[in-house]
Amino acid sequence: MNSLSLLKIAKQFDAPLYVYDAEKISSQFKRLTNAFKGVSNLRLNYAAKALSNISILRLMDHLGSGLDTVSIQEVKLGLTAGFKPESIIYTPNGVSLEEIEEASALGVQINIDNLSVLEQFGSKHPDVPVCIRINPHVMAGGNSNISVGHIDSKFGISIHQIPHLLRIVDLTQMNINGIHMHTGSDILDIDVFLYASEILFETAKNFKDLDFIDFGSGFKVPYKAGDIETNIEELGRKLTTRFNEFCKEYGKELTLAFEPGKFLVSEAGHFLAKVNVVKQTTSTVFASVDSGFNHLIRPMLYGASHEISNISNPKGRERYYSVVGYICETDTFGSNRRISEISEGDILCFKNAGAYCFSMASNYNSRFRPAEVLWHNGKAHLIRKRETFHDILRNQVDVKELFESPEKIATK
Ligand SMILES: *Cc1c(COP(=O)(O)O)cnc(C)c1O
Repeated sequence: MNSLSLLKIAKQFDAPLYVYDAEKISSQFKRLTNAFKGVSNLRLNYAAKALSNISILRLMDHLGSGLDTVSIQEVKLGLTAGFKPESIIYTPNGVSLEEIEEASALGVQINIDNLSVLEQFGSKHPDVPVCIRINPHVMAGGNSNISVGHIDSKFGISIHQIPHLLRIVDLTQMNINGIHMHTGSDILDIDVFLYASEILFETAKNFKDLDFIDFGSGFKVPYKAGDIETNIEELGRKLTTRFNEFCKEYGKELTLAFEPGKFLVSEAGHFLAKVNVVKQTTSTVFASVDSGFNHLIRPMLYGASHEISNISNPKGRERYYSVVGYICETDTFGSNRRISEISEGDILCFKNAGAYCFSMASNYNSRFRPAEVLWHNGKAHLIRKRETFHDILRNQVDVKELFESPEKIATK
């Protein structure tokens, strides 16, 4: 998408606004599929939590993707979007047995990540095939908020607990049909990923009736020029060879599954915000936009760096700016950014705004969440309306009758 079409869309739908490029999503999907074309049975399950708008889910279903879900609500969203139950895998962490049973009753693939629930579920429902989430204890780089495979992580069943796991499976006679790992969102090093995969293969040998091995996700996409990105093609070549070898050893053509979120949608998203105020202080020039971390929290939450450009004045002279939001506490999108000269009313574009942006938006400061638009075949389609004041009050219960008579508090 070029800045001209983005600017037009901002004029048509107003800002703040999320715009997603369907073509980019589809080309990323094809790129990943292509990288693993040497595998007979490949399954990509889009991680719904990255961007869960129902129209995006429909696009994923249309592309032939499955769905990775982490809550019962995401399972229901997926079913509402047209996914068949068997195309959905439910990979929660620390949820109740009841929620897992509810998902299972809807017919989706269950993935269990702790021994307590495994034992309970297996005792009650020995006939339901279950996938288990393994923690291979591999640090796949990145910061500790998003590397989830290491020793102190809350995710997955530790490989050191395999004997206990096998005892539960044996005693309950439950059927394990898949094994899974998800080592976090920052795989910088393919060799680290392959190393973790070996642990998964080794674990897989303990189970006789597997249908699939799920390698999770964590593919890295570039956020700015010079960023490292996962070399999907190289990973594809190396893991395909190893996976096919393993299937021979195992004696069955297993399905190789991934569950990418960021890889599929990050770069497809653009966040557009209007500049309210340009404020010169003694030390910097602030550009304050009609948005904040209520709409895009990644810079404040993870220190993520989203590239920012001025699409209203793309050819202007570049100056240094601090781009900030309107939330009444520190709310910085980017400091010391070189951006072409900004005037009040200009539209700024934040790149990589597809993954974990709208899906983490809130109504903090009682602001409306942004609208969302899908750009498909050269046309802009509204896929989420802008909120209204009604949305802010919805579900609030106004107990005004409690406070009708004035309280007698002496104020003198
Ligand atoms: C969040 C998540 C993903 C997606 O991770 P990305 O880094 O966005 O690709 C995949 N699997 C599970 C279990 C997740 O929780």
